[in-house]
Amino acid sequence: MVEAIGNPARPLVLLVEDEPALLTMLRYNLEKQGFRVDEASDGQEALAHVAETMPDIVLLDWMLPGLSGIEVCRQLRRRPATRDLPVIMVTARTEDQDAVRGLNTGADDYITKPFNMEALLARMRALLRRSNTVPAKGRLEFQGIVMDLAAHRAERNGRKLLLGPTEFRLLEFFLQHPRRVFSREELLDAVWGAEIHVEPRTVDVHIRRLRKTINAEGEADMVRTVRAAGYALDTEDA
Ligand code: CA
Repeated sequence: MVEAIGNPARPLVLLVEDEPALLTMLRYNLEKQGFRVDEASDGQEALAHVAETMPDIVLLDWMLPGLSGIEVCRQLRRRPATRDLPVIMVTARTEDQDAVRGLNTGADDYITKPFNMEALLARMRALLRRSNTVPAKGRLEFQGIVMDLAAHRAERNGRKLLLGPTEFRLLEFFLQHPRRVFSREELLDAVWGAEIHVEPRTVDVHIRRLRKTINAEGEADMVRTVRAAGYALDTEDA
């Protein structure tokens, strides 16, 4: 019994794989399960396809000619449009250590070759379900902090927060990924944009301003500093 996928349209999966036989097998099985399938046989092609068609999920082989799967993943995570695109990394059994590193660079999950099709489908469905349950755009909320993006307003426990444009974007980004730790470089890419060259130290200045505004009433500090790693929206003792 095939479970219906959350997305009313048939989800588009991008298969990035350089072994033709595996590609054929995956395409056959995924189409049978109601997926639309797009394929790429190397990293560059994968990035081009993502930019063109924006798949719902990417199945990304680790070992690819040219640009590796991990580099593709890194580049996807760097771009605002693809930051939250679900990615499953496919590795060979001998690459387990690397697979863990793959998750560190932002893959949502990984599966080891040779894999069972049912196991792969279960992971794909879980990820698709998760990405479909992201709250409607326009309102973000975490532990008493609420942002209304349409009205460009932010509050903490009902108290209006007067934020500068950069602090507003910073808070918006943190609220999209609560508890996750971001390095200064990641925050620069996400909030300032990869094209703009700003000193990492600039991030600290804006974090300080953000903190001052959201903690103005002596509430628990919601911006956690993680030594040598960066910042997260969280409380110190959470
Ligand atoms: Ca390969």
